[in-house]
Amino acid sequence: MTPITTRSTCPYCGVGCGVLIESEGSQITGVRGDPQHPANFGKLCTKGQTLHLTTTPAITRQARLLHPMQRVQRGAPAQAIAWDAALDLAADRFASTIEEHGPDAVGFYISGQLLTEDYYAFNKLAKGLIGTNNIDTNSRLCMSSAVAGYKLTLGADAPPACYDDVNHAQCLFIVGSNAAFAHPVLFRRIEEAKRNNPDMKVIVADPRRTDTAGLADLYLPLQPGSDVMLFHGLLHIMLWEGWTDNAYIAAHTTGFEALKSLVREHTPERVAQVCGLTRDDLFTAARWFAQSPATLSLYCQGLNQSSSGTAKNATLINLHLATAQIGKPGAGPFSLTGQPNAMGGREVGGLANLLSAHRDMANPQHRAEVAALWGVPSVPEKPGLSAVELFEAAADGQVKVLWIACTNPAQSMPDQATVRRALQRAEFVVVQEAFATAATCDFADLLLPATSWGEKDGTVTNSERRISRVRPAVPAPGQARHDWRTAVDLAQRLEVRLRPGQPTLFPYPDAESLWLEHRESTRGRDLDITGLSYAMLQQQGPQQWPLRAGDAQGKPRLYEDGVFPTPDGKARFAALPFVPLAEPRESRYPFSLITGRLRDQWHGMTRTGSLGRLFGHVAEPCVQLHPQDMERRGLREGDLVQVTSKRGSILLPAQASDEVGLSQAFIAMHWGAEYLSGQSNTGEPLAGVNALTTSAYCPGSKQPELKHAAVKVLKA
Ligand code: SF4
Repeated sequence: MTPITTRSTCPYCGVGCGVLIESEGSQITGVRGDPQHPANFGKLCTKGQTLHLTTTPAITRQARLLHPMQRVQRGAPAQAIAWDAALDLAADRFASTIEEHGPDAVGFYISGQLLTEDYYAFNKLAKGLIGTNNIDTNSRLCMSSAVAGYKLTLGADAPPACYDDVNHAQCLFIVGSNAAFAHPVLFRRIEEAKRNNPDMKVIVADPRRTDTAGLADLYLPLQPGSDVMLFHGLLHIMLWEGWTDNAYIAAHTTGFEALKSLVREHTPERVAQVCGLTRDDLFTAARWFAQSPATLSLYCQGLNQSSSGTAKNATLINLHLATAQIGKPGAGPFSLTGQPNAMGGREVGGLANLLSAHRDMANPQHRAEVAALWGVPSVPEKPGLSAVELFEAAADGQVKVLWIACTNPAQSMPDQATVRRALQRAEFVVVQEAFATAATCDFADLLLPATSWGEKDGTVTNSERRISRVRPAVPAPGQARHDWRTAVDLAQRLEVRLRPGQPTLFPYPDAESLWLEHRESTRGRDLDITGLSYAMLQQQGPQQWPLRAGDAQGKPRLYEDGVFPTPDGKARFAALPFVPLAEPRESRYPFSLITGRLRDQWHGMTRTGSLGRLFGHVAEPCVQLHPQDMERRGLREGDLVQVTSKRGSILLPAQASDEVGLSQAFIAMHWGAEYLSGQSNTGEPLAGVNALTTSAYCPGSKQPELKHAAVKVLKA
């Protein structure tokens, strides 16, 4: 058989590396980094390098969902059902629920791992056809604070920098990001930039002394949740020392006086005390940030997964605006996306509070534009339920039908006891999934098999606004279907029930036809891609947005002219106060639980957990504690401990680590029921670290505080 090479992307993190997939017949046989892809220039991390090994026939047989399945009774084994019968059943349940209880009685929970075309189909199905904004995604758990921060300050959800800025920066401020594990190929670029330019200052602010912190010239081990205090403190010093750029502030921003008066009280002494840092380090960080010719901030879940995530993002952006560290090579606030297509989901407006192409749900003109594009009378104005709200509403019986696609809330959502109650109480649960091993499959009334990496066709957008083609190397296994195809199949059946006799709103024969409609939705918007096509992606490779009609290429960097997408063209300072953690440490729960990634695992391990070699780096779950905390509690390496929050507890071995600070407990996010058992505080079986986490969320972004909960740690 002739080997074939197919150009596509890695399905894991938001770096969005290009891959070359080697295949023979229906089997993927190898993977290499794509030397021509501008995100990685041929490099791959351990997860990307082993992708092909996750597609062997044995793993496919064991792990993949290959046929539609119906569970006639909850708790009973699922039985095979034909695709048509499955889709008819789903359409009947959706239609009858909508008829009886209204459109907001149904909800969709989808994924930043879907392709843009998948996202577009689901968003139009929910908002255009059904008339509910109850469509949210696991990107809510990943990026919604970054979205809210950008919109609040810069006027649009658009990361202004690009990966190449790492090579131009003279100061890198990495905060709330362990890029060494979470974005490994980008981190290689950072290491290389530092090697090439040893004068570049690297500041890392993180409660844990991570591998990323190992590269730092200045490491700031700030207390969990104190980021806003740190940013206000740095601005206070910059103002005091005369390091702000007053000409830039006057010409390109508004709201500085209010912010100035807010940060007046944030003296270095107070900030040092609250953040657990030294005054000298604060001055050094402020000086390097403000006085460097180009400062680039890189940040991720440490800022986003927080009950003050919007404020953390916006107050970091304040620093860039105050020092004019934006809109020039090597400078800007650059949020890193966790997932491969969190950006694409934001672009199509596939979240409960967003509308297509960065339109505003509260704006009647914007709603009318989307309705006209979709050919429907209107789209709903009221924001839908965000991820946490959606599952709480299902647990309360308000949302009766749930459609879950390409994500695993029974492991990944915070406060698992509530999520599981929701999945049990919902009257009908559809799970559209590639992997039968995902915990959420156990709760499904209907399981619909989906295509996965190496099989899918469409586009994704990575952290730097770069759109890449995702191409299939092999046919779908079994009866698996593309996610967009299943959404369209459901939509067409629902149309027959909800608007009989009318022409279909979903006339899509292929992924490209969906993408073309998405492209049209961006016309005249900040993310305009009317100059882009599948053909251009084929001929010229991945492109950044915006790329307007007539443009030869996209824009690597935004706001170089100092004009922002706000009504007056000026960026807005955010005078937001420091708000403490939702659940601070206290005498009964004296540890700060911090969650995070491992280097070689991805999310709930449905794919990476199938490979023994990816356990070589970390073989089993543990809770990392500071050696002094271990000693004080009489704990030795490997002792089993019960880690307990107000919601549940888990049992796992303790490990001494000087990466974590005193009174901190670190547990990786990936381990599910196979590895890490626990129970809720009412005795129901639960698994993984999200038995402990809180669903408290940021009021601005509705992103939950997955990064922190108060826990106690007791020897078992
Ligand atoms: Fe995949 Fe991210 Fe690793 Fe690149 S850095 S190979 S996108 S997991």
